[in-house]
Amino acid sequence: MTAFPDIIYLDHNATTPVAEEVLEAMMPFFRQIYGNAASSAHPLGRRANDAVDKARQAVAAMLNCHEQEVTFTSGATEGINTALKGIFWRYATKGKHFVSLPTEHKAVLDTLQWLKKQGAEVTLLPVDHQGYPALEELRDNIRPDTIAVVMMAANNETGLLLPMNTIADVVHEKGALLVCDATQAVGKISTDVQAMGVDVLLLSAHKMYGPKGVGAMYLRRRGPRVSIEPLLHGGGHERGIRSGTLNVPGIVALGKCAELSNQWLQEYNTRIRQLRDNCWHFLQSDLGALQNGSQHQSLPNTLNFRIPGIKASRVISKLHGRVALSTGSACSSAQAEPSHVLLAMGLSKQQANESLRVSWGLQNTMQELEQLKKAFIDASL
Ligand code: PLP
Repeated sequence: MTAFPDIIYLDHNATTPVAEEVLEAMMPFFRQIYGNAASSAHPLGRRANDAVDKARQAVAAMLNCHEQEVTFTSGATEGINTALKGIFWRYATKGKHFVSLPTEHKAVLDTLQWLKKQGAEVTLLPVDHQGYPALEELRDNIRPDTIAVVMMAANNETGLLLPMNTIADVVHEKGALLVCDATQAVGKISTDVQAMGVDVLLLSAHKMYGPKGVGAMYLRRRGPRVSIEPLLHGGGHERGIRSGTLNVPGIVALGKCAELSNQWLQEYNTRIRQLRDNCWHFLQSDLGALQNGSQHQSLPNTLNFRIPGIKASRVISKLHGRVALSTGSACSSAQAEPSHVLLAMGLSKQQANESLRVSWGLQNTMQELEQLKKAFIDASL
């Protein structure tokens, strides 16, 4: 049930509500089974630990990997920091060079920027107007001292999907690791790490109907094993990779999200895709909107578009708070700066400032879509 029944919520790439089944699964771990998962001496601790094991199995099943390859974190930002800094420290003898894209999330870009101050070298490859890097350019830029290529599976602003398995072939042929921020992909499209060919993958529960402040990191153990220097020390939790008392309710919730992800994935790829496509058809034909990103290779729930000549801020203010959507990523919209993703794709500042992101989720309906269309017509007049 929503506390704001009059608002049409279309900002699911920023965050999602917690699903009823997920909330139900985590509740007992606040008040009844509140033991520390590391307290193996008594049943409260053991029950908590069993629940963590079960959640780890569910996340591993969703990613098609082994349970021992899953480490729980406080979210994708922590996962990205742990992976990139951990690789930088552990692989120092091989080199200090990273390759990435200017369209990555700030969690990646700011971490790489910090690593540069510690002596890392970073190459950000250019992308085309849809947001794709050229594979030849990727191949040419991976050097013997390149330790990792960092690329997201799905872009949070445009929804663009990168061909991870093709990218993985190039990265591995050149002897580097592939780190994938899959925060927006998980639960919306398949994230089978074997099929994707990635070595490290990061995800977050709050983008898939779980609570904020919990996530997971996949580190490949089979084939070439990925090893990282831990970021957090103290207590040796999570096989020493991530110390800190486990957030049992959050982890249980993430496990439940993983269990339900297959069912949700079907819905994203049928009903939600139809809502998005229907809306796009209307925006294009009735309001002359232009899409940013790719029409074909994108998340089924995401639409990033602009109506030439109409500022996004004007549309937002004319929606009078009736529709919750975004002008860019949630983190950067506070700064009122044009989106770094759209600028990297070659849009002008003006075009970026005309751009809006609509991201649908499980609770959206066809009735809301009709209201949205009316609201857009009013707002663009
Ligand atoms: N990466 C992407 C693509 C995201 O969309 C986000 C969330 O905005 C993050 C990373 C950061 O995730 P978290 O909020 O779990 O730290």
